[in-house]
Amino acid sequence: QGPGAMKFQRQHMDSNGNPQPNSNYCDQMMKKRKMTEGACKPVNTFVHEPLKDVEAICIQPNIRCKNGQNNCHQSRSSMRVTDCRLTNGSRYPNCKYRTSPTKRQITVACVGNPYVPVHLDA
Ligand code: ATP
Repeated sequence: QGPGAMKFQRQHMDSNGNPQPNSNYCDQMMKKRKMTEGACKPVNTFVHEPLKDVEAICIQPNIRCKNGQNNCHQSRSSMRVTDCRLTNGSRYPNCKYRTSPTKRQITVACVGNPYVPVHLDA
């Protein structure tokens, strides 16, 4: 497993996490997953679906990514996700997040062999 895939899983996968998290979820998870080191990462999404289902998004048709590359793929079904957004007035090292669970189709960028997700595009 390459570094990109491992980083994707650290930043974005929480398969066994409750899809109806409490309001502390993002404060705890952003810290646990090391996105509050050096700076508070402003926005991040966690996906509460099996890793194999997220990896399978890579076999959907290619679409254009936000950066102009064409290695993005959108999930056919909507997935359970939680959006974490840094609150106004939150200051490093006290990273405070708003926790917003929702369901939507997600878009990932995939690379490599095996061809696996390395970036969450939307
Ligand atoms: P963020 O939530 O900050 O967008 P992320 O999931 O995009 O996080 P990054 O830290 O941006 O994670 O890392 C994405 C990695 O994926 C980078 O190494 C980047 O080079 C690689 N990558 C491959 N294809 C793409 C693409 N189409 N768009 C963006 N990044 C890509």
